[in-house]
Amino acid sequence: MVRVARVIAGSIAEEIGIAPGTELLSVNGRELADFLDWEFLTADEELAIELRLPDGEHVIYEIERPEGEAMGVELEPPTIRRCANRCEFCFIEGLPKGLRKPLYVRDDDYRLSFAYGNFATLSNLKERDFQRIIEYRLSPLYVSVHATPWEARKTLLNNPRVPNILEQLVRLRDGGIQFHCQMVIVPGLNDGDVLEQSLTDLWNFGDAVLSVALVPVGLTQFSHLYTGESMDRTNASRILERAERWGARARAERGETWVYGSDELYLLAGRPLPPASFYGDFAQIENGVGAVASLRERVAAGLAELPRLDGRRIGVVTGTSMAPLMPPLLDELTEATGARFELIPTENSLFGPTTTTAGLLVGADIRRALEGRHDLDLALIPAECINDNGVFLDEESFVAVRESLPIPVFPSYDFIDALAPEGAATPHAA
Ligand code: SF4
Repeated sequence: MVRVARVIAGSIAEEIGIAPGTELLSVNGRELADFLDWEFLTADEELAIELRLPDGEHVIYEIERPEGEAMGVELEPPTIRRCANRCEFCFIEGLPKGLRKPLYVRDDDYRLSFAYGNFATLSNLKERDFQRIIEYRLSPLYVSVHATPWEARKTLLNNPRVPNILEQLVRLRDGGIQFHCQMVIVPGLNDGDVLEQSLTDLWNFGDAVLSVALVPVGLTQFSHLYTGESMDRTNASRILERAERWGARARAERGETWVYGSDELYLLAGRPLPPASFYGDFAQIENGVGAVASLRERVAAGLAELPRLDGRRIGVVTGTSMAPLMPPLLDELTEATGARFELIPTENSLFGPTTTTAGLLVGADIRRALEGRHDLDLALIPAECINDNGVFLDEESFVAVRESLPIPVFPSYDFIDALAPEGAATPHAA
């Protein structure tokens, strides 16, 4: 069912009487299954919209939508397509019990792949889904390939019924769809010949495969299904060497790197991270590919606009993996502002010390890192660890954490956002 959550004031939808709670049934005679149908079918200018108003009245509006004018409705969130796999490395299997319910939803939804860049394995695609992807040109899709050899992929996804990804990609490619792919690398399963074969297969798709990210398996202390080897420095180096060989070939033949090791892989291998130019348009930054290079670039670009903060003492809370990369950035910030920055590397108390990402720190970690720190004037914490509702993964609210601490605390993505003249931290710091 497609139901309206909100109507934008002054929009076409409001004009014709659509209200929150209205069920959208069909457009130009085609039944609506979800937001994609609504989005694509209302792209026409002449529309016959069938709907059921909140009072139960059934109506069909015939309207002419002026070109470029949106209908002006926000829909209720769709029912998420669930994952049929049971990967040993699944992050959701590595969550502790007792967190909020939505965190345990294992989505595997090509619609969210197109709309939000969520990775999907495509293993639950039905014939109708292929037709929709091609008809609506849902491109690019973000695909969790993991391995192209079928047997290896069945093992990795822990699902003997998983379809052949190569056949699926061929069909979609022939329908005009492009892909950003990821491979979560599990040592002993897809880091050697399987990786080589997979890169060869994906390379042979030509420009249909836009990029490939290699991401090391990430485990928490709760990853109870995992029976594989852990990712160590040697494994990570070997994977990066292979990626760099392919990357060099891709740059020579296609003018872009094409296959990228994630930042975490470089950190695990103890190798320097490539510069921003290596990552082109940062197509997989949400997947942790080039995030550090992008941060360095944003800091460098924003230094000139920072105010002087001479003598201020600023704590910087971060995860243990980012900590070694921070000092040069903090030196630049000190030079530009005169403030003294203190790095506060913090272990993850919820997922355990093997989870080192700054964005997964929880409220209790921030509290522990900053309690009693009267000696600081303010502190910056990773903005990524707070969701849109202002809540950490351990259900602590940011406001409650902030109020429990002796100094002002500000979420920040890149220092500049908080410290620039219009940034949240500046009035307190100046
Ligand atoms: S595909 Fe694997 S990793 Fe992704 S949600 Fe499903 S079980 Fe988890």
